[in-house]
Amino acid sequence: MKLPDKIKHILPALDRRYPSAHTALSFRNPLEMLVATILSAQCTDKKVNEVTQILFKKYRSARDFAEVPLEELEVAIHPTGFFHNKAKSIKNCCSELIKRHQGQVPRTMEELTALPGIGRKTANVVLGSAFGIPGLVVDTHVGRIVQRLGLTKEKDPVKIEFALMPLIPQERWVLFSHQLIDHGRTLCTARSPQCPVCPLRPACDYGTAQAEIGGQRTEDRDQRKG
Ligand code: SF4
Repeated sequence: MKLPDKIKHILPALDRRYPSAHTALSFRNPLEMLVATILSAQCTDKKVNEVTQILFKKYRSARDFAEVPLEELEVAIHPTGFFHNKAKSIKNCCSELIKRHQGQVPRTMEELTALPGIGRKTANVVLGSAFGIPGLVVDTHVGRIVQRLGLTKEKDPVKIEFALMPLIPQERWVLFSHQLIDHGRTLCTARSPQCPVCPLRPACDYGTAQAEIGGQRTEDRDQRKG
């Protein structure tokens, strides 16, 4: 199947299965989204939400995060793992927000990625979820699925993002990312993709190859029986 035909199949199929996909992280403003996204590295959204429910009551501004002693912040975010690096990232990032942006989270990719420790993935999450600005989030789920689908052969997340840009209509970037993240958590998991029940299978290189292998095995078995 050619790429445009794949996309014509994939987008409506995702809409039917994940009509209201959105971030599972809890937040009330862009700063909370930024902090929650930093905490979500190598951690489940559920655990991050448990931690931020308490964290965001205590620390409400960039200045609060910039001025809290490192050890105190480490204890507060400990359950999310990698707490030492995450606490440093949050503090450094919030210090820069105060220095350069009056404590506010900026709304552009350039300004966000100029903050310490903020890459394109985090910036796209913040832009899309906190500001409604189109951004393609390429996390481990998205990267894996678009490779299996055959939408790109790129492996580097930034290269994948740029390869997807011309394929997916810009107004769908945020929804598409969340739909694939949900798909990766439910059907197209890393270890055991559920291809036989996947609505994307007709447009998926991996899924159709698996079906052919399965069909060949059945044929061989029938021949042996015959
Ligand atoms: S067909 Fe299989 S590999 Fe392809 S998207 Fe669906 S679950 Fe993933």
